[in-house]
Amino acid sequence: MRAIFLIISIFLISGCSDVDESSASAPIAAQTENYEWKMVTTWPKNYPGLGLGAENFAKKVEAMSAGRLKIKVFGAGQLVPAFEVFDAVSQGTAEMGHGAAYYWTGKSKAAAFFTAIPFGLNAQEMSSWIHHGGGLELWRELYDEFNLIPFSAGNTGVQMTGWFNKEIKSIEDIKGLRMRTPGLGGDVITRAGGIAVTISGGELYTAMQTGVIDALEWVGPYNDLAFGFHQIAKYYYYPGWSEPGPALELIINKDAYQTLPDDLKAIIESAARAVNQDVLDEYTARNNEALVTLVEEHGVELKKLPDDVVKELRRISDEIIQEIAEDSEIAGRIASSIKAFQKQAAAYHAISEEAYYEARSQ
Ligand code: CA
Repeated sequence: MRAIFLIISIFLISGCSDVDESSASAPIAAQTENYEWKMVTTWPKNYPGLGLGAENFAKKVEAMSAGRLKIKVFGAGQLVPAFEVFDAVSQGTAEMGHGAAYYWTGKSKAAAFFTAIPFGLNAQEMSSWIHHGGGLELWRELYDEFNLIPFSAGNTGVQMTGWFNKEIKSIEDIKGLRMRTPGLGGDVITRAGGIAVTISGGELYTAMQTGVIDALEWVGPYNDLAFGFHQIAKYYYYPGWSEPGPALELIINKDAYQTLPDDLKAIIESAARAVNQDVLDEYTARNNEALVTLVEEHGVELKKLPDDVVKELRRISDEIIQEIAEDSEIAGRIASSIKAFQKQAAAYHAISEEAYYEARSQ
């Protein structure tokens, strides 16, 4: 037995070493090339959560590639304004971008589906749909005509309804309200009688302070505390019906991506997956403590939207999603894919996540 084991061991060891030697020579030559890329973002430089996600991605890629792919990260407005990130990467002004797909509904209405759907998937389900439910393939198909390859690279978890200076007692209180809400949530606010505005994060405080907008939603306690919205708004409403689990995106210029060797492509994919989870972990850890600071130190009034308001927003959301699904063939396929995924996830989560939350709170 021992002799057989030795023979097998020697065979395996020599077999392995043969494989190593034969496959090592070719990639070594390719690995000598270094890349210096630019990443433009829709976030203020080094902004908590969102901006740090982009910075951490760049650091991970540089470390994993031993410095062969260096990425210089630019905050909004440093190289291009926040809402020109998509075009800048599409045209190759920068090789990479970090932002959110719902900022690009002017390019394709279906882009909003890849950030968040009102009353749709939460963070866990969104990441699952993208990576194991066919979402990423659809996203890449949608962005192909723009010369872009998207990746999911972060998630904030359930957000908040937002900041208001008047109470929302019925759907009538939305009428005439100028509220910063991007994506599908904004479409819902507009149809409910409000006026949805899309403004980048860095400009929100001034917009609210000077009365350009009456209300705003940004993210949640961790990010909202950092911007100081408690200084200019009285009421902080929940739940985050418009953005239950918004995915952040990493976009890469397709031509630039194709010049990379396979190992650097694999490093980008792994770093994006790592950051996708890490951003969510950061929000989960920081939101709790930030909410305590907002309420206990700054006297913020936390309020829940009335059930009938939520119900009406839900009705409008379903109507709008259906209209976008009918807007183009691909939008229809994306909407069907999410709808089927959500149906199945909701059925299981009713007896797992929801049942557990219920059990834990008893
Ligand atoms: Ca938001």
